[in-house]
Amino acid sequence: MMKRYIVCFAMFAFSLMAMPYTLVIDAGHGGKDPGAISKIGKEKNINLAVALAFGKLVEQNCKDVKVVYTRKTDVFVELNERANIANRAKADLFISIHTNSTAAKVGPRGTETYTLGMHRAAENLAVAKRENSVITLENDYKQKYEGFDPNSSESYIIFELIQDKNMESSVNLAALIQKQFRTTAGRVDKGVHQAGFLVLRATSMPSVLIELGYINNPSEASYLTSTAGVNALAKSIYNAFVAYKK
Ligand SMILES: [Zn+2]
Repeated sequence: MMKRYIVCFAMFAFSLMAMPYTLVIDAGHGGKDPGAISKIGKEKNINLAVALAFGKLVEQNCKDVKVVYTRKTDVFVELNERANIANRAKADLFISIHTNSTAAKVGPRGTETYTLGMHRAAENLAVAKRENSVITLENDYKQKYEGFDPNSSESYIIFELIQDKNMESSVNLAALIQKQFRTTAGRVDKGVHQAGFLVLRATSMPSVLIELGYINNPSEASYLTSTAGVNALAKSIYNAFVAYKK
């Protein structure tokens, strides 16, 4: 009996050593690409603050998880490279963190979590267009992204044909994240959506893209740039990650 226990334990320990769970945390934008901006702050800084706080919680509490960051400082990282980092690390999960904005002078409030897919609403296409347009800051983006024009609606037809084997896991995680934003951080829940994000298309594991809130809503922007806000949002994503991993 004892012998069998030891064998089981050894096998369990070996499986943990052989296959650590790898989580990639992607703070959107950075360096020359500020992302969405308002008088109160810049998207790139909010994304990084939440990404680092979330990663720290995982590192402190989940010893079996290896955390890989696409950036830990204010640097520009190309969109394809963010996905490549996850693919090279053979990541189990990819979480991309962003902050929303609209063309209106004052935006709405609320959080959204996206998985890869075809937009069904014009608002979702607008978010994907804005997030994908960062590739125009890269050299040779037309060749690199095979002629994809982030601002042309026609380019998004490719996302209609996507059969994503990770869809179910991604949607599960997205729903958990939205629930936590609502219950742990008390945010307005604007739901789980699908849209054509290049960074999610190029990753080969379950993946979500979070929009933490609207930077062009003054009260939300104040929250997003506060320590309390950053910590509550990070804790929400952490709680959802732990529930998902179980
Ligand atoms: Zn963004």
